[in-house]
Amino acid sequence: MQKIGVIPGDGIGPEVIREARKALDIVSEMHGLEFEYEEFPLGTAHYLDTGEVLSEETLQRLSKKNAILLGAMGDPRVKPGLLEKGVLLRLRFHFDQYVNLRPVKLYEGVPSPLADSKRIDMTFVRENTEDFYVGIGARVKKGLSSNSFDLKRRAYEAKFDVGVELEDEDDLAYQMGVVSKTGARRVIEFAFQLAERKGLGLVTAVDKANVLTEAYGLWREMVEEVSAKHAVAKEFQYVDAVALHMVRNPERFKVLVTPNMFGDILTDLGAALQGGLGLAPSGNINPAGVSMFEPVHGSAPDIAGKGMANPIGAMLSVALMLETLGHEKAATDLEEAVKSVLRRGDTRTPDMGGKSTTAQMGEAVVSDLKRK
Ligand code: ATP
Repeated sequence: MQKIGVIPGDGIGPEVIREARKALDIVSEMHGLEFEYEEFPLGTAHYLDTGEVLSEETLQRLSKKNAILLGAMGDPRVKPGLLEKGVLLRLRFHFDQYVNLRPVKLYEGVPSPLADSKRIDMTFVRENTEDFYVGIGARVKKGLSSNSFDLKRRAYEAKFDVGVELEDEDDLAYQMGVVSKTGARRVIEFAFQLAERKGLGLVTAVDKANVLTEAYGLWREMVEEVSAKHAVAKEFQYVDAVALHMVRNPERFKVLVTPNMFGDILTDLGAALQGGLGLAPSGNINPAGVSMFEPVHGSAPDIAGKGMANPIGAMLSVALMLETLGHEKAATDLEEAVKSVLRRGDTRTPDMGGKSTTAQMGEAVVSDLKRK
């Protein structure tokens, strides 16, 4: 019996998780899978009632789960970022979910912003713990610590005589990106294994090694090292070229492995190409630990409580969870049901240009599953 922690969260989170759970129940029954669920009421209401964002005890209980299914965090009643950082980021770091897995697929029947819809079926494997997100940086003023002075000196050596008084205008801020051998190697390994397992013939390694030579030079070394152990072709691409190709010829990409920040940006471009935030699923994965699955979108307070949210991103996140937990057939059945509903096109939420409600969209997928 596998154990799932469910965190519906805020805004449209509970609305889309409700539909995703219905689909999960049906598909589990069809495949004889048994899951034990525990719901965690984390989010704004819990915080306002108790003053608690995420307790040690909750972390303990979550650490006994095989996976976590999450809706969304964030609400205008609390300071922006408080719950996103305090829950989402905390969980990602606590469970060392070093892979952010983001499939970008354009399903038949889904309008894409590209003029002529091309085959779009690529998977981003985004590094989730390092790069420019490690939080090392500072705003530097003259006369601060010797460390920051040294950095300033090096950054400004071409422009300033450091002996002279610097004005306010001379403030600078810096932020450092960190790539470690172990951090890069493990996520690159995940990407190559994924490509191998799924018979996808190409891994594109994204970087900007022509400018950020130190960090992404090491990244490239790790790509060379890992790729030598796998029978999958690889290529290096600069992040700017990847952005261009994603629009001009997205069909060329299969698996892309990317450092944290470039992955953040490119996967949002990916979400647009696949028809919008409401359709995009994601997984935060630690292959040897507790992974967490969540739709890419946030709590969307503007449409919360109106029954307008598209539950497809959450449902596809459940499919990713099933696949990661080793239930590939169940995952495929759920994805196929989503696909056929999208292809038929008679049930669409407003973000896709339709009039259906969240529940109607969920019901359409569930009835398709039941017909199998
Ligand atoms: P957060 O900061 O929590 O990420 P946000 O408002 O910046 O929140 P999202 O909540 O992801 O970003 O959504 C941005 C907009 O996209 C929403 O305001 C909403 O209109 C639309 N949107 C997001 N998710 C969905 C969905 N599942 N169905 C329909 N529309 C959605």
